[in-house]
Amino acid sequence: VPACAEPLPVLGRDVTVPLVTGGEVTYAALDYAASAPALQRVWDDVAAYAPYYGSVHRGAGYLSQLSTDLFEQSRATVAEFLDCRAGDQVVFTRSTTDSLNLLAAVLPADCQVFVFETEHHASLLPWGDAQVTYLNAPRTPAEAVATLERALADRNPYGPALVCVTGASNVTGELWPVKELAAAAHAHGARIVLDAAQLAPHHPVSVRKLDVDWVAFSGHKLYAPFGSGVLAGRADWLQEAAPYLAGGGASRKVARREDGGVDVEWHTTAARHEAGSPNVIGVYSIASACRALNEAGFESLVARERHLIAKVREGLAEVPAVRVLSLFGDDAPRVGVISFVVDGWNSSHFAAALSAEYGIGVRDGLFCAHPLVRTLLGSEPQAQGECGAPEAAPGERSLNAIRVSFGAGTPDEHVERFVRAVR
Ligand code: PMP
Repeated sequence: VPACAEPLPVLGRDVTVPLVTGGEVTYAALDYAASAPALQRVWDDVAAYAPYYGSVHRGAGYLSQLSTDLFEQSRATVAEFLDCRAGDQVVFTRSTTDSLNLLAAVLPADCQVFVFETEHHASLLPWGDAQVTYLNAPRTPAEAVATLERALADRNPYGPALVCVTGASNVTGELWPVKELAAAAHAHGARIVLDAAQLAPHHPVSVRKLDVDWVAFSGHKLYAPFGSGVLAGRADWLQEAAPYLAGGGASRKVARREDGGVDVEWHTTAARHEAGSPNVIGVYSIASACRALNEAGFESLVARERHLIAKVREGLAEVPAVRVLSLFGDDAPRVGVISFVVDGWNSSHFAAALSAEYGIGVRDGLFCAHPLVRTLLGSEPQAQGECGAPEAAPGERSLNAIRVSFGAGTPDEHVERFVRAVR
């Protein structure tokens, strides 16, 4: 790998964990898809800012003004990171889940929603009362586009419609044909929201070039911790609907009416959906991560990740008992998220052994994408808890899977240790 041959410095690189076999080892965090470690650079930026911390949009004091400026500058940084169009709004939320629930809350009446059954539950479930059409799992990107086109052609062409699609699967890591799906949506008068929770940490996301109407992502997967997320895109539906949360910050003017009630004038900016004191540290850390990733350069980050993906894929291919899960086939382009099952192994026990014997942290379970995992395993996962890990009886087909995921902070040694351990 020519450029960016070194991983970016992240927190927790030197953490050691005990092994059941005796001794200890540095922790190999290979669960970036759940939460990535924070970039050291983000942590340093936050530490430098922390003494100047003050209330956003609410104080006359110097530190309050400074925090307000940093908060609004962070909004501009995120808009630039996402290559937003003029007029797009960046709303700060708690997470991708929160962002998509916010969008669901502002849908126009009678909006039809189209979503593939392969989505993460955060994209699959928020649409509540809307008329939702669940699309069957496609086996190629082209089939995804054809499936969507067929469904949209059948819809009532006069009502509003929204398509929700992931950019990169949190189970298979496979890239979805977002640009083509957006073109199909628009050709049929529908809008599209991109769930970029797994895409944004690995690839540049351009709202303009992909021509999506909204994009959602989470800070904690983008090397910025602290409970913040983003919904960015078209202002109209956001501003035509009632605020997602009612309260201070969202309201411009509140007055008692003569009949005893209360009149409220809501903001028509992003603030409309940001009631309550905002999470300035979380927002600042997202902006810091955006800057750090841009400075490192996605070209070299992608090149390095490809090299890690190849190492894992080649290593797993040498173990006949391993079956890598894929919707679009082995050669499909993907990010550093790979799920697999091992013949004769219960996936939960396998993941526990990777931790206890090798100090490797991966994820096992159904990854909050039950219908997709069911399709990929050809079995009926019985969920225990929302994202739970059902147990297969000895000798039975696995009911869940193991997921290894990595990114900008992953050294080669971690994936090499992982491959050795699986072998
Ligand atoms: N979408 C995808 C594709 C995800 O991977 C995740 C997190 N696993 C989410 C949405 C939800 O993100 P969060 O938990 O940060 O709300």
